[in-house]
Amino acid sequence: MSATEGRPAVPGTTYDDSLDFARRMDEADPLARFRAQFHIPKRASGEDCLYFAGNSLGLQPVRAKEYIDAELRDWAALGVEGHLHAAHPWLPYHENLTAATARLVGALPVEVVVMNTLTVNLHLMMVSFYRPGRDRFKILIEANAFPSDRYAVASQARFHGYEPGQAVLEASPRPGEAIIYTEDILTLIEREGEKIALVMLGDVNYLTGQAFEVDKITRAAHARGCLVGLNLAHGAGNLLLRLHDWQVDFAVWCGYKYLNAGPGGLAGCFVHESHARSFDLPRFCGWWGHNKESRFQMGPVFDPMPGAEGWQLSNPPIFQLAALRASMEIFDEATMTSLRRKSELLTGYLEFLLDRLPGRYATILSPRDPAQRGCQLSIRIKGDAQALLSRLKEAGAICDFRQPDIIRVAPVPLYNRFVDVWDFCQLLSHHANREQN
Ligand SMILES: *Cc1c(COP(=O)(O)O)cnc(C)c1O
Repeated sequence: MSATEGRPAVPGTTYDDSLDFARRMDEADPLARFRAQFHIPKRASGEDCLYFAGNSLGLQPVRAKEYIDAELRDWAALGVEGHLHAAHPWLPYHENLTAATARLVGALPVEVVVMNTLTVNLHLMMVSFYRPGRDRFKILIEANAFPSDRYAVASQARFHGYEPGQAVLEASPRPGEAIIYTEDILTLIEREGEKIALVMLGDVNYLTGQAFEVDKITRAAHARGCLVGLNLAHGAGNLLLRLHDWQVDFAVWCGYKYLNAGPGGLAGCFVHESHARSFDLPRFCGWWGHNKESRFQMGPVFDPMPGAEGWQLSNPPIFQLAALRASMEIFDEATMTSLRRKSELLTGYLEFLLDRLPGRYATILSPRDPAQRGCQLSIRIKGDAQALLSRLKEAGAICDFRQPDIIRVAPVPLYNRFVDVWDFCQLLSHHANREQN
């Protein structure tokens, strides 16, 4: 096997397709120890599953139970006193997550808060940052945006009196392609910029795994007077993000995908420092966004905290925060820089093995450029993709299916191994051939 044949995704990396290679990569992996900090679902045989669905629901950190149990104990022992006297007092509990969250997305602490769930945060942000005027009222989104985002955007347009057909503008792939060219997005912004109030992108796109060139797009959008929001449901904990430097206006993300917060876990929100004191922006308010010093004076007038915390509504669910705290500690220890380095290697390896599968039943839709994708590869399957997925599941491999023919596979650098990827491609090859015959 020559070094160049598989077009290694990371310069200087030479992949080969032997099991021995995968084993050596795992032995040399500086992040390998983190796998033991997660519960890996098991097959009937008792062996670990090949879990590639961390883009959909991240695995449970072993410590999550300990952290939730601690809060259950303090609640039992202290009742309401736990707000101030729990080992981790509940009143400021969300602040335990601020520093790590800021590091995760490349933000200042004042720019981030963990609160609510994703779509809720998206609406709260659009209340403040989608402010259509007579001539500037459009929202630019990507084609194939996640349905919840489409509903949210369309309903915001309607809320302001526009038909979604008038107000929602889509950046699309070229005919016959899956990926949206950055230059096409830039051209659209150049052409329609004066009418666009908000550019709202899902970074990474959930279906294709495409990571948009946020830096370039944000600069172009700002130059035309548009605000920029990101949905980082598939980006947080996956990509190296520099939200502050990129000057993105706001971003939202959920906690249960790459961030392992557990089903329905709490979401994140970023508001750029430049808006930290924009108290004249319309916003929907609740008491938890009120100035901490005077919140419990229970005054009639809302006095917002500066920064992202000022958008909080309610006192947050502590058990959910505790679960997320367990995971964020792991991210802090592993660091996004190291995770991203491994992720590029691991996904490049998956790409390498997929490209070498015999037959033409699997086509990679995700970008080939590692800089334009995260860990997920979306694979178009020729034949019955759903049946193939069931067979894979029976064999112990968990990934997911999106209509009509796409399988999404996400090797997550915190807990997936190179041997997992190798095993998966063996299974895929075996079952896809059966499917075809
Ligand atoms: C997962 C996901 C959602 C889900 O929204 P919830 O409010 O957390 O249910 C929304 N948008 C995108 C892009 C997603 O990937």
